[in-house]
Amino acid sequence: MTKKILVTGGAGFLGSHLCERLVNAGEDVLCVDNFFTGSKANIAHLLNKPNFELMRHDVTFPLYVEVDQIYNLACPASPIHYQHDPVQTTKTSVHGAINMLGLAKRLKARILQASTSEVYGDPEVHPQPESYWGKVNPIGIRSCYDEGKRCAETLFFDYHRQHELEIKVVRIFNTYGPKMHPNDGRVVSNFIVQALKGQDITIYGDGSQTRSFCYVDDLIEAMVRMMNADKEFTGPVNIGNPNEFTMLELASHIIELTHSGSKIIHLPLPQDDPKQRKPNIELAKSALNWEPKTQLDEGLKSTIEYFKNYGI
Ligand code: NAD
Ligand code: UDP
Repeated sequence: MTKKILVTGGAGFLGSHLCERLVNAGEDVLCVDNFFTGSKANIAHLLNKPNFELMRHDVTFPLYVEVDQIYNLACPASPIHYQHDPVQTTKTSVHGAINMLGLAKRLKARILQASTSEVYGDPEVHPQPESYWGKVNPIGIRSCYDEGKRCAETLFFDYHRQHELEIKVVRIFNTYGPKMHPNDGRVVSNFIVQALKGQDITIYGDGSQTRSFCYVDDLIEAMVRMMNADKEFTGPVNIGNPNEFTMLELASHIIELTHSGSKIIHLPLPQDDPKQRKPNIELAKSALNWEPKTQLDEGLKSTIEYFKNYGI
């Protein structure tokens, strides 16, 4: 039977891919977004579909709609965006979670939270399993995002314990792909745009810090599997690609794939920038029968194509 599904943050990078996936599966999708970092262009191709609806709304305010499932993605994800108005970032994570959990409680709807590897902070355990509690600075410039997302997880588990709400929590590691905003400041989009424009590639610090990059299609597959998994399986579950790269390695791959003449330059490392990050995905493999399929070069090629077509 067709389900009514709410996607908050549905006009953003991940949200727009999720909406497309659900619309194509025949579900009835309600996309809610305040367009802080998302855009109508990301979902323009869905607007004429009878099973897609767009609503401008800020999740820090209550929402009254009728749905069967909720994917809660609303929150800026790139450091420059979430640090632009840090108070609003915490409000979006915390008040947004309270409002969406309240909605789910009234409707007895299942709700999935897009949490993040940032809950592990600058991790001392490597790779990071879900059982690791993290090393997070509570008062730094990344804290509005990290602590906001940690508090949202707390709220999800308290609604689950206190109100028997059906919750699903996924901890998303760095994800990239088409529809990333060219100016959103995240490393993959920055390096590709710089390489295509022949500008200097800006590595922050010495470039030895690591990240593990997941292609968007793999991530969306895992999210949908998690939403529809057994009721008892709440997570948190790590979703990411465990192949780990230094930022220097990433820059070289992108220069090679774009045949760019760009030079690498080094800029200061931002405060509290995590030194390493790599998911342990054993739980996702066993509980969701999922693992990422797209390797970095293949994913980068389609992302580069997207930015070329975007006019970069
Ligand atoms: P994004 O910035 O492209 O999308 C976020 C969307 O939320 C945007 O459309 C934005 O306009 C909307 N939004 C922000 N504040 C809102 C509010 N108060 N009310 C309604 N809408 C609001 O980021 P993304 O990469 O698509 O991330 C989506 C979710 O996944 C976020 O919750 C993010 O924390 C999480 N996540 C993403 C990554 C990643 O690598 N992309 C990693 C970890 C977690
Ligand atoms: N980074 C970089 N150059 C850039 C943008 C980012 O070297 O132009 C680095 C950043 O310092 C971090 C890594 O790339 O170590 C990933 O940054 P991003 O903002 O994409 O994600 P996050 O730090 O949240 O994982």
